[in-house]
Amino acid sequence: MANDVLFPATTAGSLPKPFWLAEPEKLWGAWRFSGAELRAAQENAALLWLKIQEDAGIDIVSEGEQFRIHFVHGFMEHIEGIDWQKKTKMGIRDNRYIVDVPTVTGPVLRKKSVHAEDARFARAHTRRRLKFTLPGPMTICDTVADAYYGRRADMAMAFARALNEEARELEALGADVIQFDEPAFNVFMREVKDWGIDALETACAGLKCRTAVHICYGYGIEANIKWKETLGGQWRQYEEIFPALNRSKIDQVSLECAGSKVPVSLISHLPDKIIEIGVIDVASHAIETPEAVAACMRGALAFAAAERLQCSTNCGLAPLPWDIAVGKLKALGAGARLLRAANG
Ligand code: ZN
Repeated sequence: MANDVLFPATTAGSLPKPFWLAEPEKLWGAWRFSGAELRAAQENAALLWLKIQEDAGIDIVSEGEQFRIHFVHGFMEHIEGIDWQKKTKMGIRDNRYIVDVPTVTGPVLRKKSVHAEDARFARAHTRRRLKFTLPGPMTICDTVADAYYGRRADMAMAFARALNEEARELEALGADVIQFDEPAFNVFMREVKDWGIDALETACAGLKCRTAVHICYGYGIEANIKWKETLGGQWRQYEEIFPALNRSKIDQVSLECAGSKVPVSLISHLPDKIIEIGVIDVASHAIETPEAVAACMRGALAFAAAERLQCSTNCGLAPLPWDIAVGKLKALGAGARLLRAANG
């Protein structure tokens, strides 16, 4: 497995919504419109981000998650079997946030496409490789309560089958990379090995496009920043799950290296995977320099061959101010070009 260009630049997926689409700098910014007007505004925003990513030299682009309110709920709200009125109080991500979550009260079924129109739109407007993101089954199960399946692993498999139907449709519409976001993988390490990776492989079954898993320590929001303070001087959570992920059928794994306490040497546990190195810090408003991006990548080069590395962001840029996100994308693209010039 290798990249076709050295050090392709990509993002973890989400990008800020423009002020005219949703309330800015929020994870759950309310939409400004509804119905056909909302759809038109979302398409305009996606088009803008495709152009900005291309101008910044991002090689594998996305629609910036402009069509969804939140990375998990944007998928779940189209799935049958979930009662949105029946809220259950739940400590999610191992009690990092206490929230009222909807409840699964019947079989989880995907009766219709969730993102087909979004993928079709994005594909029609860029010739770059297109990444499409979906929430991972374990992270979905950590964002919804179960009053039907009885075992979390069983509920995860049901969501994984629904995700697989969606992923196959996105692939057929031209997605080159389908990435599953699994921040829960850094929290429930035992369950990841027991059933989390199995569920992920079910979600990817039969796909011929690149498949990726994005694991992370979350957006740069207060609850996450506080949690990170409890994780000690070195964040070694990935070490526990990378050997199992390396044995899995997933093609790519991402991890965050910019301004984090993740030792980059942990990527030596992924000798058979493409690795997306997070070189853009999403918890800081400081815009990285291209030199800092390249330096962060050089740290990774000590542990993995250049052909297996991609330059990425630590996580989604969604909650950041617009101009800062644009600046970070430019630094990412410029850093990748610097590296290519030095290693080409
Ligand atoms: Zn993330």
